Amino acid sequence: LNRRLAEFGTTIFAEMSALAVRTGAINLGQGFPDTDGPEEIREAAVRALRDGRGNQYPPGPGVPELRAAVADHQLRRYGLSYDPDTEVLVTAGATEAIAAALLALVEPGDEVVALEPYYDSYAACVAMAGGTRVPVTLRPHEGAFRLDLDELRDAVTDRTRLLLLNTPHNPTGTVLTRPELAAIAELAVERDLLVVTDEVYEHLVFDTAEHIPLASFPGMRERTVTIGSAGKTFSFTGWKVGWVTAAPALLTAVRSAKQYLTYVASGPFQYAVAEALALPESYFAAYRQDMEAKRDLLAAGLAEAGFGVYRPAGTYFVTTDIRPLGERDGFAFCRSLPERAGVVAVPNAVFYDHREEGAPFVRFAFCKRLPVLQEAVQRLKTLA
Ligand code: PMP
Ligand code: GLN
Repeated sequence: LNRRLAEFGTTIFAEMSALAVRTGAINLGQGFPDTDGPEEIREAAVRALRDGRGNQYPPGPGVPELRAAVADHQLRRYGLSYDPDTEVLVTAGATEAIAAALLALVEPGDEVVALEPYYDSYAACVAMAGGTRVPVTLRPHEGAFRLDLDELRDAVTDRTRLLLLNTPHNPTGTVLTRPELAAIAELAVERDLLVVTDEVYEHLVFDTAEHIPLASFPGMRERTVTIGSAGKTFSFTGWKVGWVTAAPALLTAVRSAKQYLTYVASGPFQYAVAEALALPESYFAAYRQDMEAKRDLLAAGLAEAGFGVYRPAGTYFVTTDIRPLGERDGFAFCRSLPERAGVVAVPNAVFYDHREEGAPFVRFAFCKRLPVLQEAVQRLKTLA
């Protein structure tokens, strides 16, 4: 492995899912649902395969049906108008969108400011692009991990090229509020920064939380690359269909990089996802309600089992503090948890540069069937 990637070995998700398979433990580590998305959308994929749509290379930017559906979704939901021909790009999941955006927009030596803890591919992609990551740490405050806007402002230097945002935020479940997003937008405009914003959990916001795309703030549309994912929104993580919306110059740049990563991917699935994005609002509402009930069950169960619980406002992850259980090291805790309790979780420390900050936090995924979550809770209660 070259020097740029030396610190990135096997991803934590692969390590922990392998541990779950080896031990037969309940896997609340890697974030993937244990029930597939809508039957009619699976049927749409089968139809596309049978009709020979997408079995050969689809168009580089994505099939027109899906680009139109993405544009329509952004307009319908957020009032954001994007031209499907020049401002929408289909990618091999959000993972490729993140990689292509960073490879396209970061010059070697540029600083990339990102909210820590961050999704694991961010650090690796910044490194592959030759950039320097500058973490701004979200810290617990009144039951949630919050951004300190002064720290964010201080993190921006003359070498900062872009902000890499994620809301709703994995792994903390934080959803950035309108005033926070407005302040971030003002900073980006004032310092002339680009923003790549990972909004793959846009449909998973709970209680009174609201997802507001950063691109909808004044001055942001022209400088923002927004990323979405069918894996997260429709529970088809294996299909690897993601998308980017951005103004033409930015989109063209991201597309240039994307061409040389996968060129294209997921042909027939693109047609199915186009149909999924056109599902009625009742689908999205039911999905959110289902996940909210699962959050409630797991958050309450973890609290009963003795964990400190940060009730997430979004995503399908709960971050916990293991110190009330007399534990301090999330890594050691997660490595022993399958044996001690038959459950797999992820140590948040892997998402930090400041490993010490993340040491006592452990993430559990709740995108699992209710009986599975109930059983996991019963097992975790034996820890206390
Ligand atoms: N960003 C975040 C914050 C994620 O949690 C994930 C999925 N784990 C991704 C990106 C990757 O999405 P995809 O599966 O569409 O590549
Ligand atoms: N996004 C998922 C998570 O955070 C996992 C994705 C992956 O395995 N790369 O758990």
